[in-house]
Amino acid sequence: MANNTPRSDAELRKLTLRIGDPHQQQGLVMDIPVGATFVDVVNTYEHPGWPEEKAYCAVCRAYRHRDGYTCLMSNGSLILAGSKCGKDLSGETFIHARKRLHRDIKRQELLHDLDALTPKVYSILDGLQGWTAAVEAAAERRLRFKTMLPELFDDLRKVASRPDCLLTISERIRDHAAEADYQRRNRRPPQQPIFRYTEGNLAPLGGAPFFMHDQPDNLLKNAMTALYRTADAGRSTQAQSSLVLALAKKAIEEARDHVENIWTLQSAMITFFAKENLKNVVIWANAKEHRERYRAGDIAITDIGRATIHLAPGEIPLLDRAPLDALRAMR
Ligand SMILES: [Zn+2]
Repeated sequence: MANNTPRSDAELRKLTLRIGDPHQQQGLVMDIPVGATFVDVVNTYEHPGWPEEKAYCAVCRAYRHRDGYTCLMSNGSLILAGSKCGKDLSGETFIHARKRLHRDIKRQELLHDLDALTPKVYSILDGLQGWTAAVEAAAERRLRFKTMLPELFDDLRKVASRPDCLLTISERIRDHAAEADYQRRNRRPPQQPIFRYTEGNLAPLGGAPFFMHDQPDNLLKNAMTALYRTADAGRSTQAQSSLVLALAKKAIEEARDHVENIWTLQSAMITFFAKENLKNVVIWANAKEHRERYRAGDIAITDIGRATIHLAPGEIPLLDRAPLDALRAMR
């Protein structure tokens, strides 16, 4: 009878489940050993040389099969059996055995992947631990910006979400053509000068991604939670279903997205707080408000009469790139 007990992960890690030429296997014997009984289907094959070559079968003792099984016998030797003859021996149809083997192959691939990934994930987690102080400092500054200059933050977020990230200012300019036209039609100049508005591009917003994404400390927390999911599953696979293992492997992608966003956000912050960029932002913000509400310093924007957002670029701790590179290399 077929042995349908699922294989343990420890067994699966060692087995060769995909084979080419079925005759090239260690421990293979031509005849069913006397007194030996069937134990398990080790793998199924489709002979790669078919139809020129055919696979041997220990049941019908001839080379005539394309598909079949390798069977483990009670004395420890392996025999080949064709797809039809094998059913007589094992009691399991070829299709059923292949389905079962396919599930094993899938899980084996997951185990091999997780075995390779888990030690790397632990070292990435160590690296990300080292990001904590810098990311918390950035989160604190971003939150301060959001709460102290909320309108400016929201307006900048809108600019940052445009594909061109341009700071645009609508300008009021004297419309000489319209005035000349008026004069032609009325034989006298207009009593008031005529103006028109044009949208002028001031500059691209530097460090636009600083205004996108979630708070960087949340991103870091989410990235680490995802990586712990991978590491925990990889450390104790036997207790997990194949679905859980697949999701644990997939969690690396989620972590990578968060870490990419932290990296982008952190470098964007340095770009945003550059002196020239702060100047442009203040010119733009004041033009929008038609008053001198904000003032730009070397490293600060002041909402005159209210609050100052202050950030020395030199104060921003730099992030070690290694965890990001390691996650990118895991594709
Ligand atoms: Zn046969």
